[in-house]
Amino acid sequence: MNKNITSIRGMNDCFTPDIKFWQKIENKCKQILTNYGFSEIRTPIIEQTSLFSRAIGKVTDVVKKEMYTFNDRSGNSLTLRPENTTGCVRSGIEHGFLYKKRQQRLWYLGPMFRYDRPQKGRYRQFYQLGAEVFGFIGPDIDAELINITARLFRELGIIKYISLEINSIGSLSSREKYCRVLMDFLHQYENELDQDSLHQLLANPLRILDTKNPKIQEILIDAPLLADYIDSESKYHFINLCKLLDATNIKYRINHRLVRGLDYYNRTVFEWITDILGAQNTVCAGGRYDNLVEQLGGKATPAIGFAIGIDRMVLLIKQINPYFIDEYNIVDVYLITSGKVSRQSMLVLAEIIRDHLPYFTIITHYGGGNLKKQLSHADKYQAKIVLILGENEYKSGEITIKDLRTGKQEKITQQNIIVRLNELLC
Ligand code: ATP
Ligand code: MG
Repeated sequence: MNKNITSIRGMNDCFTPDIKFWQKIENKCKQILTNYGFSEIRTPIIEQTSLFSRAIGKVTDVVKKEMYTFNDRSGNSLTLRPENTTGCVRSGIEHGFLYKKRQQRLWYLGPMFRYDRPQKGRYRQFYQLGAEVFGFIGPDIDAELINITARLFRELGIIKYISLEINSIGSLSSREKYCRVLMDFLHQYENELDQDSLHQLLANPLRILDTKNPKIQEILIDAPLLADYIDSESKYHFINLCKLLDATNIKYRINHRLVRGLDYYNRTVFEWITDILGAQNTVCAGGRYDNLVEQLGGKATPAIGFAIGIDRMVLLIKQINPYFIDEYNIVDVYLITSGKVSRQSMLVLAEIIRDHLPYFTIITHYGGGNLKKQLSHADKYQAKIVLILGENEYKSGEITIKDLRTGKQEKITQQNIIVRLNELLC
């Protein structure tokens, strides 16, 4: 039997009308980031596997279970990027741009790949809009990044439906100290831990704080607090960040259990969460990673970034406001012919109109059919205006204009067409 070829599980096609949600969100993100002085960076979607294992941490879920890794024809191990902070750092070190200008503000947008369990809001190819800044020790830049995300969510009309959680996970060394204390504490409960947590206990104990398992959450109530172990500089950094957020009227909740899934973070971490999307409740996550540039072979450079999950943003906005996109009247002018008028004359006319009215959407009818059929196509497109070039009009240098919004029809000379369309459409 001839079985149709389908897309890969967890990887989606996106087309109209959904694509309009994507475009509007992406355009808003780009506009705001540009206004804050950020510039775009595009890096390849495939990198050497060692880049991710070195940066993200060999024992993290992402590197252990979620990467799309394969050998190319020369036997090099390559990986489809599971995130793009690492790619930006690799590029910055390779081209030296992290150091040429002492400070950099960058953004990127593109697909990421993780062999996750596909479900609503969790896919194997998903999209992140990210920002990364280098060379600032903060906490002013931390506050600016959070303000950018807040501004974006305000302008997209979703700020009421999401909330900000922040935490400091301290320096790497203070975190290691805390992990030992946490491990000692959790060892008492070894019998009560699930498989995942037992595994994490050995590999990456901090991640247990993030558990969704209610039984373990209960055990954690009495666990030592990370906040009591973090170094004084990180504490001071965090207190000042809170002051800056207060001064800019950003509402937040300090969540002492908030950690990040990747190893390279330190000090500030933050997440925007929602209770509308079920288990996939984080729409944006970020944090500081002051050691990553050096860890990947560059000169020590402080850094912080965030990534917004665009797929989840689209789901959220569609649920909150289905009228977010204006589906109607996207076609301004629909051109049709009747009688024996040649396709060529209509094409020529359409191009002349486009020369003069470049901001209007103009569609030309192809495929023939009688006037009624062509008009019904114009209706389907919800065109505002139909231009009819009939045999008589063609001979006399005229054209018929029908305004589908009012039903009014008029005949004018072709020379006046630009002026008249402008009057009708502006
Ligand atoms: P989660 O705990 O949901 O798996 P994560 O900690 O793995 O998230 P990050 O690496 O911090 O996620 O990625 C930043 C954002 O990218 C997430 O907050 C989410 O919005 C989005 N994201 C991550 N993984 C996926 C996925 N598989 N499908 C869709 N969006 C995703
Ligand atoms: Mg994940």
